[in-house]
Amino acid sequence: MRDVIREYEERVIAGERLTHDEGCRLAAIPAGSPDLLDLIASANRVRLHYKGAKVDTCAIVNAKSGACSEDCAFCAQSAHHGTEAAVYPLMDGAAIGQAADAAYAAGAEAFGIVAAWKGLREGREFDTLLERIRELARKGKGHVDGSLGHVPTVEMATRLREAGIRTYNHNLETAPSHFPNICSTHTFQDRLDTIGRLKAAGIRICSGAIFGMGETPAQRVELAIHLRDVGTDVLPMNFLNPIPGTPLEHATPLSPQECLQTIALYRLMIPEANLMLAGGREVNLRDMQSWAFHAGANAVMVGNYLTTPGRGPADDFRMIADLGLIPGNGHCEPAPAPAPNPLRMVAAGA
Ligand code: SF4
Repeated sequence: MRDVIREYEERVIAGERLTHDEGCRLAAIPAGSPDLLDLIASANRVRLHYKGAKVDTCAIVNAKSGACSEDCAFCAQSAHHGTEAAVYPLMDGAAIGQAADAAYAAGAEAFGIVAAWKGLREGREFDTLLERIRELARKGKGHVDGSLGHVPTVEMATRLREAGIRTYNHNLETAPSHFPNICSTHTFQDRLDTIGRLKAAGIRICSGAIFGMGETPAQRVELAIHLRDVGTDVLPMNFLNPIPGTPLEHATPLSPQECLQTIALYRLMIPEANLMLAGGREVNLRDMQSWAFHAGANAVMVGNYLTTPGRGPADDFRMIADLGLIPGNGHCEPAPAPAPNPLRMVAAGA
């Protein structure tokens, strides 16, 4: 398998993209196999080639929490589940501004406003939201991002961009073949449609996944190909942190090695994406969190998540420094031009 992994690495660095079957070969490497270390080493070289030593950082605020009409099986904020998540309406501008100031002061370079609802609708609440976004953009301290659910028209997406949204998060969550097991109130296609409208409005896409929701390794590959086709700039990699009261509360967590394998798989499948470590990383990766960067991650969400606490941002910035990496928001920069492939140069006797 070592030679296969090395061949894949060379081809990815040369600009080729792996097929579904090739991804499945990587996804099938058993936990504990020495091949996993070869995969991680290859993913690290691909990360360095495409992304260099920079690590993006961003933070979020849960600006409207709970009582969501959707039934996403992983989510503490669904009104369909009996969880203890907080329920509150859209925060006022001062509260959102304070959260943004705290995030920027802690070192985050992008700040995302998140709301728990199905999506946006024309009306007073949308107008209020646009004003909140304008207020943040006027601060001029960092990028303003949004994660506000479905966007029903290109015109509304355009108004978000004009208000100041640079990047919009809308995860595909899981493979289309698994999606109906996770959500019944909207479809995978609904999510693709929103992403299409955002792209049409010129907004950068942040779209990723939650792993550990009962999907197979092949379904992780299936999703990777959809995310590659979508052309996501930022790809949040969440690992399920089962919440009591949700249908997935008894899901078996992924092992740290499975998490690392998934990150490395995604780096080889979608080498140009900014792979962002996000929710559940502390719980699932435990002492192996820093390995995630060697496995191909080049971004991290700092601070708290939507309904669960994260560790202190200072710990994350120290981890980044200890790895010899540099905090810096690369997700609004184009990927560097492909450099000569050192492996091919060696093979050619250069
Ligand atoms: S993931 Fe989003 S859409 Fe789904 S239940 Fe939670 S808040 Fe609602």
